[in-house]
Amino acid sequence: MHKNRMIRRLALTAFSVFVAGLAYASSGGAPGVSPDEALQKLMDGNKNYVENKLTNAARSDAATRTSLAKSQKPYAIILTCSDSRVPPEIVFDKGLGELFVVRVAGNIPDPVVLGSIEYAAEHLGSPLIMVLGHERCGAVTATVESKGKSTGSANIDAIVKAIEPSVKPAAKDCEACKGEKKCAESKKSDFVECVIDANAKTVAASLTKKSKILKHLAEEKKIKIVAAKYDLDEGTVMLFK
Ligand SMILES: [Zn+2]
Repeated sequence: MHKNRMIRRLALTAFSVFVAGLAYASSGGAPGVSPDEALQKLMDGNKNYVENKLTNAARSDAATRTSLAKSQKPYAIILTCSDSRVPPEIVFDKGLGELFVVRVAGNIPDPVVLGSIEYAAEHLGSPLIMVLGHERCGAVTATVESKGKSTGSANIDAIVKAIEPSVKPAAKDCEACKGEKKCAESKKSDFVECVIDANAKTVAASLTKKSKILKHLAEEKKIKIVAAKYDLDEGTVMLFK
């Protein structure tokens, strides 16, 4: 074997062993926190936020930073929108090291997002995944307004395309529309809310279909996946059943 190739192969083997070791060392993850307990922690923190009694600053101090410098065990993964009004650490009253957050306009999963979630669920042992949509989401509004046409940006079109599968189910189930055919125009703001709900639920349900790792962890009851919506006016997070 050529010397350089041999060195490269040895280096690759060493890297694989290192990665496998990491996976083994951290497979326990978030010790002692069950999926339901993690969810309760989120909802309790949201109550603090709604009541204007935030405590997270105390858990984001220098001592906490130092204690977390070498490792992390976040007990919840949050996939939410990039919207500046929906920062999970604030709306759930959490400090450093508690949440593994993936934010992208419209809270939609592409392979990079899925890979990020898989990493936290499998290697960091986070037992809960929450897909969090929010009121008056700009990405969903853009999708409803595009009506299948290009937005003028191939990149924004990619976001719209990912949200589009939720438009039809929303039209069917939207209570505000009650079967009205042109609801997307006549009651646009209500319709947008219905698509936001459908999108969060669709994305949550799609995670185990798009990821073998998440499917396996869900089957083993090591993770729980929930969908929820953030109310911009009240600050409350509502869980979808
Ligand atoms: Zn949004």
